[in-house]
Amino acid sequence: AQERYASIRETDCVSADGKRVHLLMNAGLMADLPSLVSSGAEGVGLFRTELQFLVRNQMPRRDELAALYKRVLDAAAGKQVIFRTLDIGSDKVLPYMKPQEEPNPALGWRAIRVALDRPGVMRMQLQALLRAADGRPMSIMFPFIAQYEEYARARAEVDKVIAREKRLGHKVPERLSVGCMLETPSLAYASDRFFREVEFLSIGGNDLKQFFFAADRENERVRRRYDTLNVSFLSFLEQIVKRCEATGTALSFCGEDAGRPVEALCFAAIGLRRLSMRPASIGPVKSLLMRYSLTEIRDVIEEARLRGEQSVRQSVMEYLRDSS
Ligand code: PEP
Ligand code: MG
Repeated sequence: AQERYASIRETDCVSADGKRVHLLMNAGLMADLPSLVSSGAEGVGLFRTELQFLVRNQMPRRDELAALYKRVLDAAAGKQVIFRTLDIGSDKVLPYMKPQEEPNPALGWRAIRVALDRPGVMRMQLQALLRAADGRPMSIMFPFIAQYEEYARARAEVDKVIAREKRLGHKVPERLSVGCMLETPSLAYASDRFFREVEFLSIGGNDLKQFFFAADRENERVRRRYDTLNVSFLSFLEQIVKRCEATGTALSFCGEDAGRPVEALCFAAIGLRRLSMRPASIGPVKSLLMRYSLTEIRDVIEEARLRGEQSVRQSVMEYLRDSS
């Protein structure tokens, strides 16, 4: 399937009305890295580090992780890789950690909450990341941040680890970029101070949508019940775009919906211009985005909203059909 899109692999994604959209890929294993070349992705917008922890039967050691992250950066050959720190709990349970009995795991002790309560593993992981960089630029992202204080505390851990590395005489990255996933609605309403301090945000649409509609992403009865192109959800995403524009915060979207061409087109139309997805989605998404005017799609979305439609999907699909 990648061959079908080979002719546009090296082409920048620019819409028919000249808007540049950056397409990145999601990864989690060393085996994903060759796709960086074969898909034409501009970088890794989300590297899910928990996969390395999940495929083992004991906690990986720091030096093992550093060696692995170094191989990832080598394979990326200068393209940006955003490493997300360990995102466990809820659906991702480490076989060597005591399972938690929680009534609502998705709302429970997970991701950054675990990391801040038991900082040992995060410190070890941060140290492995800094060593892997060996002086090269490094991007680190925290999962599941719900309020400013969690970001500030996680950021302070990074600063502490950097200071320690320097004291030990190790090189530190020439440029370090620290960002957060935006996957709880609360973070969209954090203070301007948060938006100005954080270097970048990436919308985790899988979790954000689950909490926005109060519909468990793991529950077959409800997971597909609410359309991503529902006008409420699009308005919410648009508000996040506006806040990031106003505060100069870099923003991307890295949930699974970014890899669905019609969704990606609508996201780009409302101003989300950095999308990270499965490598196999890059070709189909790029091909669709290059054929249409984002300004016109934006108008179609706005008209559907004014007509009171619940989801813009049908209007957008009709527009695509009529103009092809
Ligand atoms: C998300 O929530 O959209 C996301 C990218 O993270 P994960 O799917 O790993 O929870
Ligand atoms: Mg998530």
